[in-house]
Amino acid sequence: MERQSRNGQETIVAVATPPGRGGIAVVRLSGPDSLRIARALVRLKREPETHRVRFGHVLDEGGEVLDDALLTYFAAPHSYTGEDVVEISVHGAPVVVQTVVQLSLRRGARLAHAGEFTERAFLNGRMDLTQAEAVRDLIESSTVAQARLAAEQLGGSLQREVRPAKDALVMLVAALEAGIDFAEDDLQTMPTDEIAARIAALRPALERLLASFAHGRLLREGLRLAIVGRPNAGKSSLFNKLLERDRAIVTPIPGTTRDVVSERAVIGDVPVELLDTAGLRETEDVVERLGVERSHEAIADADLLLHVLDATAADEEQEMAAAWVAAGRTPVVRVWNKADLLPSEEREGAPEGALWTSAVTGEGMDALRGAILRYAGAGGAGAGSGTAAGAVHAMLTNTRQRDSIARALEGLERGAQAALSGTPHEMLLLDLYEALQGLDALTGQTTADDVLNQIFSTFCIGK
Ligand code: GDP
Repeated sequence: MERQSRNGQETIVAVATPPGRGGIAVVRLSGPDSLRIARALVRLKREPETHRVRFGHVLDEGGEVLDDALLTYFAAPHSYTGEDVVEISVHGAPVVVQTVVQLSLRRGARLAHAGEFTERAFLNGRMDLTQAEAVRDLIESSTVAQARLAAEQLGGSLQREVRPAKDALVMLVAALEAGIDFAEDDLQTMPTDEIAARIAALRPALERLLASFAHGRLLREGLRLAIVGRPNAGKSSLFNKLLERDRAIVTPIPGTTRDVVSERAVIGDVPVELLDTAGLRETEDVVERLGVERSHEAIADADLLLHVLDATAADEEQEMAAAWVAAGRTPVVRVWNKADLLPSEEREGAPEGALWTSAVTGEGMDALRGAILRYAGAGGAGAGSGTAAGAVHAMLTNTRQRDSIARALEGLERGAQAALSGTPHEMLLLDLYEALQGLDALTGQTTADDVLNQIFSTFCIGK
C-alpha cells in the first residue's frame, strides 16, 4: 500500500552529486511539478525543451541572483524515472546547493528517500529489478570488471538470458491449461514425454546462470582470502608481497585487530580481501590464544585459504598439511615458501602440484596470483590476464538473483518428476507456476514490497 502512495503524484528532490564542495553539483527533481518548481528558482533565457540544456540563474527568495545554473529537462515518460525530471547543475558550493533544495521544498517538493529515483523507474516500468540492482552496483563498483558487469546487467543482460526460457515455459503452461479446459471434449492432451522434454529444454540456460553466481559474486563482492600456516612460514611476507603490485587500490580496513590484519587488493580483475592470520599452533598464552581464535573465525569466513608452508621445514610441515586437509571444506591453495633457501635438487620430493614461492626473490608470485584467479573462475577466456579483455556474459551477482533462479529450477525439477509419474496436469501445473514465479521474481514482477524496500534502501540518496 505504502508503495502505491509513494509512487503517487509527489515531486521529489535530492542532491545527486556527493556531499561536499566541488566544481559542480546537480540537484534532481522528479514528479509532475518538477518543471514548475525548477522554473520558480531558475530564471531562464529561453523556454525549456525536453532533452535540452538551458542556461539560467538561480534566484534566492528575494529574487537576487545566487549562481549560474544549467537546467536539463526530461519530459515524461522519456526520463530516468518515467516522470518529468529536471536536473539543475550549479557550482558546487554546499550553501548554493542547499538553497536550491530548500527552495524546492518550499515550492512543494519533498526530499527523496534513498534509491527513490530508481525505485520510481522500476515501478514505472523503465527498468526491471536486475537493472535497478545494476544501477546500485555500478555506483558502488571499485574495479573495472565490476563496472563492466554492472553495465551489462543495466543493459538488460539477465533479462535477455532468462527471456527465452520464460517464454517457452509460458507456452507450456498455456498448452497444459488448454488441455485441462478442453479435457471433457476429448481434446488430445500433451503426451508425458513431450512435457518432460519441454521442461528439460528449459533447464540448461537456467543452470548456466545458476553456475555463473560463483564468479559473479566474486567479481561483485570480492574474494576473502585468509593466509594461514605455522608461525614464521612467511605469511606476513607473502601478504605484503601480494599487496605490493596492487598497492594502488589498497586501503586499510578499520576495526581489524592486530592479530588478524586485513587489506584490500585487486588481483587480476578480482577484488581480494587479504587476511593475514596469527599462527595456528596450540598455545598457553592468553593473548596469543585470542589471536588464534580470531584466525579460526577468519578461516571460517574465507572463500579461499592460502596455506603457507616453510619449505626448509618440510617434514614438520607435511604433518601439519595433513591436519589441514581434514580441517574443513574451504578450498586451499598451498605454497612452499622460502624456496630461495632450498637447493633445486631438494625440490624433487615435493608433493604434486606444489607451488614454490619466495617472498624474498618474488619467485612464484605470478603463479600464485594465477592460482588464486583460477579459483575465482577468472582463468578462462580473456580473463586472468589482469586486464580481462572480452565480453562479460550475464551473471547472477547477488543471492536474491541466485535464489530466484534456484526456485525456478526446483519447480521445473518437481514438474518433470510429476510429468513422468503421470501426475494429473492440474498438480503438475502448480510446479510450473512455481518455476514461473521464480523467473518473475528475478526481474521483480512478483516481488514483495518488503523485499523491494530492502533493495532500494541500500541505494544512496539522489539515485
Ligand atoms: P609469518 O610468521 O608466517 O607471518 O612469517 P613472516 O612473514 O613473519 O616471516 C618469518 C621470517 O621468515 C622472517 O624473518 C622473514 O624475513 C622470513 N621469510 C619469509 N619468507 C621468506 C622467503 O621466501 N625466503 C626467505 N629466505 N625468508 C623468508
